[in-house]
Amino acid sequence: MLVSVSKGKTWIITSPYIYDNYGIFVGFTNRLGGVSNGKFESLNLSYRVGDLPENVTRNRMILSSDIGVYPDRWVVPEQIHGFRVSAVSYSAAGKGGMNDKSAIPGSDGLITNCNKLPLFVLVADCVPVLLFDLYTRTIAAVHAGWRGVLRGIAVEAVRRMKENYGCTPSNILAFLGPHIKSCCLQLEHEIARNFENEIDRSVIEDTKENSCFVSLEKALVIQLELQGVKRDNIYSSGICTCCNNEYFSYRRDGGITGRQAGIIFSI
Ligand SMILES: [Zn+2]
Repeated sequence: MLVSVSKGKTWIITSPYIYDNYGIFVGFTNRLGGVSNGKFESLNLSYRVGDLPENVTRNRMILSSDIGVYPDRWVVPEQIHGFRVSAVSYSAAGKGGMNDKSAIPGSDGLITNCNKLPLFVLVADCVPVLLFDLYTRTIAAVHAGWRGVLRGIAVEAVRRMKENYGCTPSNILAFLGPHIKSCCLQLEHEIARNFENEIDRSVIEDTKENSCFVSLEKALVIQLELQGVKRDNIYSSGICTCCNNEYFSYRRDGGITGRQAGIIFSI
């Protein structure tokens, strides 16, 4: 369902099937094809990580010309590792697109049923989760780090899709983008215990003396299935950002690095 394609200068993991059959673009960028240098080489899409703002703007324009939606339409949440999912409409077009200050405050997820209103989340190890309801054409983009997964940010997104737009979970498709997988996500025992208590023992894949290896993907699948999303409707890129140098990785790069994007919009 998810394949890597070159859209021009950039490489994007996307679903041509979903685009052709439902008119929905889902995409996950990597770090290739931009103009940023050093730790941000090269397609850094975040204004908040210390990169030159003019380079971020150029990168956003490069991506825009490849995917056909420009930053004056993008909607980007502030992302605070929280729990809030904001419903947005056309009045939000461009918020967070051309600068960081106008991003949707206090939110880690966005939902809408508006056409041509592209929702973005920016990540480097956290899971970009994209959701799409086949019948109401409601879409969502969610930033899910380990804190957000524990707090149930994806559950909250599905709940808001039901409440605000009348979505039925069995009609929702979910796409989990490149993120730090259990091969590399080492968390302290105490945090891992929270995963065991709040979600399931099975999300802890290995245990060492001082830490545990945790699968955010398994945790999200369990959470989404409990909400009524079908297992067969959940798709993953299968890529670990920490293992793959084509992606920014907060953990591998020692905390100073760029951000790639998860993108969804109805055409
Ligand atoms: Zn890995």
